[in-house]
Amino acid sequence: MERKVKSLNCPLCGKAMEEGYVHSRKQILWSEDDKPRLFDFYDENLVTMPIRRANKVPGLRCKECKIALFEYE
Ligand SMILES: [Zn+2]
Repeated sequence: MERKVKSLNCPLCGKAMEEGYVHSRKQILWSEDDKPRLFDFYDENLVTMPIRRANKVPGLRCKECKIALFEYE
């Protein structure tokens, strides 16, 4: 997947965020509330579960503020 956001300043401290990749061995799921879900019935599956390999998507992070942003299709 090609990177869409190449640079961004951290919304908390304003410094340039570091480019990298977010890796996961499972899917990355989204919900608009904080309620736990049974099984994998979430509002949206942002990054689908890969078969026999780890997922990776382009991202940016601020090490100091401990926040990360990642892209999905
Ligand atoms: Zn920051």
